Amino acid sequence: MFEKVLIANRGEIALRILRACHEMGIQTVAVHSTADAEAKHVRLADEAVCIGPPSAADSYLNIANIIAAAEVSGADAIHPGYGFLSENAKFADIVEAHNIAFIGPSPEHIRVMGDKVQAKKTAGAVGLPLVPGSEGAVSDLEEAETIAFEIGYPVLVKAASGGGGRGMKVVERPEDLSRSLSQAKSEAKAAFGDDTVYIEKYLGNPRHIEFQIFGDGQGGAVHLGERDCSLQRRHQKVLEEAPSPALSADERDRMGEVCRQAIADLKYRGAGTIEFLYEDGNFYFIEMNTRLQVEHPVTEMITGLDLVREQIRVAAGLPMSVTQADVRLSGHAIECRINAEDPRTFAPSPGLVEQYHVPGGLGVRVDSALYDGYRIPPYYDSLISKLIVYGATREECIMRLRRSLREYVIEGPKTTIPLHQALIEEPDIQNGDYSIKWLEAWLAAQD
Ligand code: ADP
Repeated sequence: MFEKVLIANRGEIALRILRACHEMGIQTVAVHSTADAEAKHVRLADEAVCIGPPSAADSYLNIANIIAAAEVSGADAIHPGYGFLSENAKFADIVEAHNIAFIGPSPEHIRVMGDKVQAKKTAGAVGLPLVPGSEGAVSDLEEAETIAFEIGYPVLVKAASGGGGRGMKVVERPEDLSRSLSQAKSEAKAAFGDDTVYIEKYLGNPRHIEFQIFGDGQGGAVHLGERDCSLQRRHQKVLEEAPSPALSADERDRMGEVCRQAIADLKYRGAGTIEFLYEDGNFYFIEMNTRLQVEHPVTEMITGLDLVREQIRVAAGLPMSVTQADVRLSGHAIECRINAEDPRTFAPSPGLVEQYHVPGGLGVRVDSALYDGYRIPPYYDSLISKLIVYGATREECIMRLRRSLREYVIEGPKTTIPLHQALIEEPDIQNGDYSIKWLEAWLAAQD
C-alpha cells in the first residue's frame, strides 16, 4: 500500500480524498495556491506545499509544480480528484514517468474517452447503444447536411473535446445548420484548442442516467448501479439521486451488466462513469468520464462502499474489495449541490462565511470544506458543499432532506440552499417525474 498520497485538488473533494487516505493509514500531502493557504484540506493534511498564485492555470493546473511537490515530499501516488488535471492524459503520463502511481485509469483510456468522437467509437465497439449521429468527426457542410437529414432535426453539434456542458449547439432547422456548424467549430477552437465537432440527434425529453463502474485493470469489473442526474441547468447537474426513480430493476440489471461487460472488455482500471440519455425505455451513450464524479456519494450511500478507497486499492495493485455478487443496492440517496451563488440569478457570491452550522443526524452526510470564518475565494468553481441524504425509501430520503436543508446555516455568501428547498416541494420532484428539460422550464416559470 502507498505510504503517502499527494492530493492534486482543492475544496470538498480534496477533503474527501484526505479522509479516505487517513482511514487507510496513508499520509497526505496537500497542494494549494496562495489563495488557499487557509483551506481546510491544507490544515488537515500531514504536509502542505504551495504550488503557485491563485489562478488555476498557474497552480492546480501547473503540472511541473505539482510533480515537484510530489518529489520534494516523497509522495508515492497522486490522486487528481475531479476537474483540473483529472482527465488530462498527459498529466497521467508524466506522473507515471516519474515512478509515481496515478490514482486513476491508464493514460490511454483517459485519452480515448476524453475525445468524444473516439469515445463513441470505442463505446459502440464494446456494445454500448449510441445516440444516432455521425460516425465520427464532421468536417464539411455537405456531410453535415446528409447526416442531419438522415437522423432528422433537431440535431446537436457537439465539440469532440467539449466538457462541463460547453461546446454544444442545437440546430432546429436545415437552414441554420451552416451557421451553427461554423459557430460550433470556432467556439470549440477557442475554448478547447480543438475544432473537431460531430453531430448527434437532439433528444426531445430524455433523462440523464449514468452507471458507476469500476475496473481492476485486468478484466475484472463491477457496476454499482445508476444515478439520475436529470436536474440540470445549462447542462450542469444540480441535484442527483440513486437509484433513478425511472428505472425498473430489470432495466438496471440489464444495462448494468452491459456496462460491466464493456469495462471488463476494455480492461479498464479504477472508477468511471458511463453516461446515457434515457428516453422511451432506450439508453443512448453520450460519454464516459474517467474519474471520480462530484455525485459519487449517492452511490456510496446505497452500496456502503468507499469509492476513493477502492480507487486507491486498485492503483496500488490490490483487487477491488467486492465482486459483482457482493454488490447490494439498498435504500435511496439524494445529493444537493450547494453553490455560493444567488439562488435566482446564479451570480457567484464568494466571500466570508460569517456563520456555519451543518445539519446532522441519521442518514445525513455533508461533504464540504467550509468552516466558520472561512473566506470563499473568487477564483474557482462555486460548489461549496454537497448535502447527501440517505433514506430506506425515496419518501424517507425526501423527508430527511427537507429537514436537513432547514437546519443548514451558511451566513455571509448567498447560496443555492433556497433553490433546493423550493425544488423538493415540487410534486414532479416528489414523484420523480422530471427530464433534463424540467429545471430550466421551472426556472423560466419563476420569473
Ligand atoms: P459534457 O461533457 O459537457 O458534460 P455531455 O455529452 O455529457 O457533455 O452532455 C451534457 C448534457 O447535455 C447531458 O446531460 C444532456 O443534458 C445534454 N445533452 C447531451 N447530448 C444530448 C443529446 N444528444 N440530446 C439532448 N441533450 C443532450
